[in-house]
Amino acid sequence: MTDRYAVIGHPVAHSKSPRIHAAFAAQTGQDLVYDRVEGRVADFEAQVRELVAQGLRGLNVTLPFKERALALAGAQTRSPAAVVAGAANTLWFEGEVVHADNTDGCGLLADLQGRLGWPLAGARILVLGAGGAVRGILGPLAAAHPACLQICNRTLDRAQQMVLAMGPLLPSSGGGLSVLEPHQLQHQPPFDLVVNGTSASLSGETLTLPPNLFHRHAQAYDLAYRAEGPTVFMEQARAAGVRHVEDGLGMLVEQAADAFQRWRGVRPRTAPVLAALRA
Ligand code: NAP
Repeated sequence: MTDRYAVIGHPVAHSKSPRIHAAFAAQTGQDLVYDRVEGRVADFEAQVRELVAQGLRGLNVTLPFKERALALAGAQTRSPAAVVAGAANTLWFEGEVVHADNTDGCGLLADLQGRLGWPLAGARILVLGAGGAVRGILGPLAAAHPACLQICNRTLDRAQQMVLAMGPLLPSSGGGLSVLEPHQLQHQPPFDLVVNGTSASLSGETLTLPPNLFHRHAQAYDLAYRAEGPTVFMEQARAAGVRHVEDGLGMLVEQAADAFQRWRGVRPRTAPVLAALRA
């Protein structure tokens, strides 16, 4: 019997997940269909229960439901990654039981270390932003043993609250996890890797990035991606002399492959799917 999966979000029309999972299913010979579901902000939980009653096997969850998705799973069926992030992007259902995981962080690491070969151990890493995506990536980044992991967010209080809540759950990360105010960036030694986890790129907004942020061999990664061409952050990094600049499409495919593996027990090859999306 054909199994059914979907991505749920609000809005969700832009999501590339149906295309990615259709490609994974074709590649691995799995019998499944994958749809988009426009999430209901007023009663997301009831909507998920309806979908489960209709036979849905699993969901990918995107903005603004990731925290509420985690709350659907009991304490015994939340993955450590989802607990640390306080949010879930992958759910699957066994009868009444809801399982929750967060594959954003391992997806980012698979792209950074696996595909791009960028070293993280011993690196000075700066993460811009303190929203849901950053919560998902901090655990795996900290576990990669950077020399330091610093967070900078436009709203200082949000970054401080996040680090306060997550800090004790994170593996110790060499030089430690700390929060910078935006104006402090200009006094920092250059970073080896700057990850843009803000949504500024989505609205085409320019971030304030002082020239000292990058050294000559630094790397810059934007979690965001555009249908065509570089994001504003990528253009800013290139203008600052950074040669290794990437968008988040690779992470999107990797986090999807991890979700697919949770559901189907097989991890698809990601390179051909990423190449098809880029084409
Ligand atoms: P979110 O929870 O809404 O958080 C947005 C963050 O961006 C906040 O920290 C916000 O700062 C900051 N921000 C927004 N506009 C800004 C601006 N003009 N200047 C400075 N900071 C700004 O969003 P999210 O879910 O974390 O998503 C963040 C990005 O990650 C999005 O681009 C999303 O597409 C991307 N993403 C990619 C993947 C992938 O697989 N590649 C997965 C998940 C997310 P304040 O706290 O001050 O408002």
